[in-house]
Parts: sequence; structure tokens; C-alpha cells
Amino acid sequence: MFTIGCHLSSAKGYLHMAEDAVSIGSNTCQFFLRNPRGGRAKAIDPKDIAAFRQFAPEHGIETILAHASYTVNPASNVPKTHDCALMVLGDDLVRMEETPHQLYNMHPGAAVGQPVDVAIDNIAAVLNEVLQPGQTTTVLLETMSGSGSEIGGTFEELATLIEKIELNDRMGVCLDTCHVWAAGYDIAGDLDGVVDEFDRVIGLDRLRAVHLNDSKFGLGSHKDRHARIGEGTIGFDALAAFTNHPKLRHLPYFLETPNEALSGYAEEIAALRAAHAEG
Ligand code: FE
Ligand code: FE
Ligand code: ZN
Repeated sequence: MFTIGCHLSSAKGYLHMAEDAVSIGSNTCQFFLRNPRGGRAKAIDPKDIAAFRQFAPEHGIETILAHASYTVNPASNVPKTHDCALMVLGDDLVRMEETPHQLYNMHPGAAVGQPVDVAIDNIAAVLNEVLQPGQTTTVLLETMSGSGSEIGGTFEELATLIEKIELNDRMGVCLDTCHVWAAGYDIAGDLDGVVDEFDRVIGLDRLRAVHLNDSKFGLGSHKDRHARIGEGTIGFDALAAFTNHPKLRHLPYFLETPNEALSGYAEEIAALRAAHAEG
């Protein structure tokens, strides 16, 4: 079964979000645990969680992916920013255990003036503090476009970071097709080459999810602007081929494309399912 969905609002709770997912022909979704710009998370509603945990398997939803706030920067050496990252990531990971064995995706962070190796050490220190031995959640580091001082624009940076994490069997990677393209990995012209490079540098067993986005800007542009599938510089055929690749086809796919209404995602999902060997 092809696992594909999109980013959805979690404002009305887990059950409502899962119902939205099913309504657009998807069997997974991504969501924010709290306001993406930071701030407090909503209180957990045990009734909503219970309803979701009953509804999801009945509708083919096995995997969901929570996305951390964009404002979290565990690479920072500014005490306030560092403390905020510790608090938010720690609290999010406790909350994730309400829906066990799921995925939590985060942007690694930005160096902002520090050397890259120091920034990576800072991120590892935060993760080593918040990851717990009993935790069932897998934490995913997102591949980034490499704009500004962002960490994660190369597979090497992610591999170095993962190596520094003690409980690294809880760590994985979420590959964003727009970001790797903007970072210079040619997934349209040489997908096999990129897959081999990922495997050699990070290990394909670490790859646990894909953000499936087309890109407004070109290969190696280092500009992170998503486009709808088939309306960007990667193109529909290359993105469909990505989802059909023998080493990638089993992964869960999440659209983060610019759509004003759920119907836009429904169209993209239908087209991608039609182009997928397993539908
Ligand atoms: Fe992201
Ligand atoms: Fe993404
Ligand atoms: Zn992006």
C-alpha cells in the first residue's frame, strides 16, 4: 500500500485530523504539535486520543508524523534559545508517547555565527538530554536546503550529528525532495546516484519519511520554496519516479505543497496514486 498524505491542521484534535486525511484519499498525515512559531501546546484530550487510536487503524492510518516548531533552534548558544529548545523538544517527546511508535520531525537548527562543528555538538547535546531510553518515538532530522547557516544541507552533516547521539537507534532522517534539490542533489537527473550517496553517507535504514514537494527554484539554488507537484523545477514525472523507486517506495510520503484548500491536496494525492505501481 502506498502511504501518502499531507500536512494537516491539528487545531480540532487528532480524530478530526484523521477524518480530514481520509476525506482526501490519504492514509497518513503530518501536523504541528503546537503553534509552528512557538508557544504553548494545547492540553492533551484523552478522549480525542482514544477516538483517534480507534479510528486510525480502521482507516488504514498506521503512521503519522509530527513536525516540531520552526522556532526551535537546538544549535544555538544563546541561553534563552537553548533552554527553549530543551523545553519544547522534551515536552513534545513526552506528548508523542500518547500516540506510541510514531515519527517526530525537526529541522536540525542554524549555526548563526558559530562554526558548523560547534553547532552540531550543541544539537547533539540537546538531543542527548531529551531522548529517553523508554521512548517509542523515532526522531527524524529533516534534510535542509542549506540556505544561510542552516545545518542539514548535506548528508554528511546529518551523519555527523547522528553519530554523536547516544540513543541513536531512536534517530532517523526525513528527506524533503524540495530541500535536497535546492541543496544540489539531482533527484530528477540521477535518483539512483542520490540514493546510493544517502546510503553510503547516512545509511538507507535511517530514511524513515519523505516530504514530497516540488520546488520553485532550481537545482542547487539553496532556496527553500515549495511548489505543487508538477508545477516546479523537479517535475511530476521525477517525483512520481521517486515514490516508485524500489528502495524508496515503502516510505511514508507527506505533501507540504502550497494549496489553499484540502481539495488541492486531494488532486495531488489522486495523481500520485495513479502514477504509483501500488496505487
Ligand atoms: Fe520542515
Ligand atoms: Fe519539509
Ligand atoms: Zn521547506
